[in-house]
Amino acid sequence: MFWKKEKTILKKVLSLTMCIAIVLSLVNNWYIKAAPNLWKLNDSYSISSLNIDGLEDNSVVKAGDINGDGAVNNKDLTRLSQYLSEWDVKVEEDALDVNGDGAVNNKDLTRLFQYLSGYDVEIYVADPGIQTYSFVYGKSVNNRDLVCYSISPKDYTKTILLEFEIHGFEDEYDHDGQVLVDTANRIITYYSDVLDLNKTRLLIIPSSNPDGLLDGTTKDGFGRCNAEGIDLNRDFDANYVANNTPGRNYTPYAFSAKESRALRDLYYEYRPDIVIDFHGWESSLIGDDRLKNAFNQEMGLRISNSFTSSNARGYFSNWAHQQGSLAMLVEFTSSNSIEFSKLINAINRLINDEY
Ligand SMILES: [Zn+2]
Repeated sequence: MFWKKEKTILKKVLSLTMCIAIVLSLVNNWYIKAAPNLWKLNDSYSISSLNIDGLEDNSVVKAGDINGDGAVNNKDLTRLSQYLSEWDVKVEEDALDVNGDGAVNNKDLTRLFQYLSGYDVEIYVADPGIQTYSFVYGKSVNNRDLVCYSISPKDYTKTILLEFEIHGFEDEYDHDGQVLVDTANRIITYYSDVLDLNKTRLLIIPSSNPDGLLDGTTKDGFGRCNAEGIDLNRDFDANYVANNTPGRNYTPYAFSAKESRALRDLYYEYRPDIVIDFHGWESSLIGDDRLKNAFNQEMGLRISNSFTSSNARGYFSNWAHQQGSLAMLVEFTSSNSIEFSKLINAINRLINDEY
């Protein structure tokens, strides 16, 4: 009897082990199969994970808000006193110099105490200089955040929008839109460390079409296009023609895609003076002459065209041009030939009004 019972248990254990083995082999198989395609994304994909100091905090630091909770109250007094006692506490660095005398010490504690007690005293926050933060301007069809980064001095007189990866697949290899996203992220990292932007607000969108890049399968449909198969860069109401054939340039009506509507609305809200839309890999420029000259001198791309009344049909850049921005579409030469320093020099020309 015991033997029988043990045999049953043994059977159960064996079948459970088999199940685990089968599941493991399936997972392993999937992993091995998926690895070559996913590698590029896993290795460098960073649409939503770009990490720049201070980016989590979307708001400007308030004077007196030592603990960064958005309010100025006794908790800040406690936090400042802990900080001054060298406790390991989290503080908003820019808020520490409460009395604005350039030093952080007990005088700041006194000043904050006076302020909270209703004395007629001023409290200060450090000049934020150039602020870098991100914001969500919409959702993709597959419910991903559409993210824009803003890098801006407090007082700016012009806005430049740099927009990337409206096509998740360009024409070199699957998911090659990732190269555009990576380039955008490098630009964001670079400019968030620059001290003088010549009164320019930079808006940078690393991924206008995240679903196409991450879930897409082809350069002739979803991949290049969004999850509904719509080509976002044929979907803008500029020299617009509908294309009802599903595939590469499909757009049933102007602004038929959620992502292009979000980009349109962002444009209306921020009214950029300059718009650049980055693609690959035709080594060309199309757009306003002044921008083309600036880019060509730095980057030496092969082909240069202007917007006419009949070309660039449904292009975001042409639409921005027709809305009154200086605008241009850039096609890099190839995925492995983006010379970052030359690109920065070209963007700097726009920032420094040298175009
Ligand atoms: Zn493209």
